[in-house]
Amino acid sequence: MVGLALAHTELSGFDAGFSAEELSAQGGVTRFAAEVMRPIGRELDRMTPDTAYQKGSPFWDFHRAFASLGIGSDAIGALDARAAARMEAIVISELGWGDAGLAVSAGAGEMPMRAALASGERELVEMCTGKLGCWAATQPDRGSDGLMLYADERHPGAKGNVGNLRAKFAGDEIVINGQSSAWVSNGCIAEVALLDIAADYGDGFHDEVGNVHGCNIVVPLDLPGIARGKPLAKIGKRALPQGEIYFDGVRVPRRWAVATRDDYPIKHAMAWAHAGTAMSHIAAGLARAAFELALSYTNQRRQGGALLADLQLTQFRLGTIGAKVEAIKAMARHVADYTSTSPQPHPYFTAAGKAFCNAEMLTVVNEALQLFGGLGLTQEYPIEKLLRDARAMQIEDGENNLLLMHFGFLMTRLNREGWGRK
Ligand SMILES: Cc1cc2nc3c(=O)[nH]c(=O)nc-3n(C[C@H](O)[C@H](O)[C@H](O)COP(=O)(O)OP(=O)(O)OC[C@H]3O[C@@H](n4cnc5c(N)ncnc54)[C@H](O)[C@@H]3O)c2cc1C
Repeated sequence: MVGLALAHTELSGFDAGFSAEELSAQGGVTRFAAEVMRPIGRELDRMTPDTAYQKGSPFWDFHRAFASLGIGSDAIGALDARAAARMEAIVISELGWGDAGLAVSAGAGEMPMRAALASGERELVEMCTGKLGCWAATQPDRGSDGLMLYADERHPGAKGNVGNLRAKFAGDEIVINGQSSAWVSNGCIAEVALLDIAADYGDGFHDEVGNVHGCNIVVPLDLPGIARGKPLAKIGKRALPQGEIYFDGVRVPRRWAVATRDDYPIKHAMAWAHAGTAMSHIAAGLARAAFELALSYTNQRRQGGALLADLQLTQFRLGTIGAKVEAIKAMARHVADYTSTSPQPHPYFTAAGKAFCNAEMLTVVNEALQLFGGLGLTQEYPIEKLLRDARAMQIEDGENNLLLMHFGFLMTRLNREGWGRK
């Protein structure tokens, strides 16, 4: 009897129906991820933070090679919204499969340029061209609080948190004072920043219900009054430089503000939704990378008189995490599709996607390491690095519990308006 043929798969797993363009992009980015990102990511992981990001380090080789790929935000902009979301899903998850820290460095690196392009301001686009960027939104005293969009999510009577980095608008000028958190991706070495901070437009930092006025400003980071912290030493995502940016009476023209009092809430929401979607795709890529390592290892290691992969317990464990890998990918693509096509997308939904994809990814990586036995704990195999990178992602771009709390809040308010009551 002839057995049923094995299933059709693509590099990304159980996928079908990709266009020729999508397949070609996936192949190209996977090659780049395998040949450039993985070796550089592993090398940076073992370097000390004070050497890893200096001029001449492999970190900059990665960024030069990434720039020459030509897959930045301007390249995808030519596609319609749904096709762009599909293409981003394919590209970003392959970058996450290569190295999650470098993938974020590339993504955060583009945030000022994305804002500049959306503003249509030539001066800002030129300011960002060829420069490594960052997105400075969190501060020492304003972490999760910066992601709270509604007054009735706060403790009763509490006002919104203004934080430690503030802009004062006066006439044609903005004066910026304070510091970002140490967590700003690329912050310690970036050449340009997209600031996402509290603003005083002349009548204080709060509106009538206690929400904080905000602004987005594109700022070159070589201005007088700007200083940096040291690159942060941390458990995972060590290929991603992070560090503080200090502002001491930094004066910039008002025209560099790409979002102010009235359009800030929606632009802040959309920038965060973009980041949450990207984090979901990166989780899909990292989960697959860990799963593939475990799959290959169990097809080589013999215990119990057989290959591990031939033992039914192992097949069950691989089946369990393999299904999660597919579910993470599907959720990430769903979030991306909804966000690109909905008449009213919402960052609390992308936040839920980020939390779900990243939490499930951690369970996949953990079980993949478990399948290696003791060897999984050694630096001989890259699985231990993936676990450390995955751990950092449970807090990055919003701590997972808080993100799910926001999604829960959103659904309770939709229900009060009638949704889910039929
Ligand atoms: C790898 C990585 C990359 C990052 N990149 C960037 C970047 O590019 N730009 C940037 O600006 N920031 C960045 N961050 C910062 C990140 O967004 C914050 O770390 C995150 O939002 C959490 O803030 P926090 O660390 O201040 O924790 P806190 O907000 O202090 O939270 C501490 C704990 O308190 C809980 N908590 C907080 N508020 C509440 C509440 N209201 N109710 C109940 N519990 C609560 C949280 O769930 C958490 O468990 C990055 C972080 C990491 C780890």
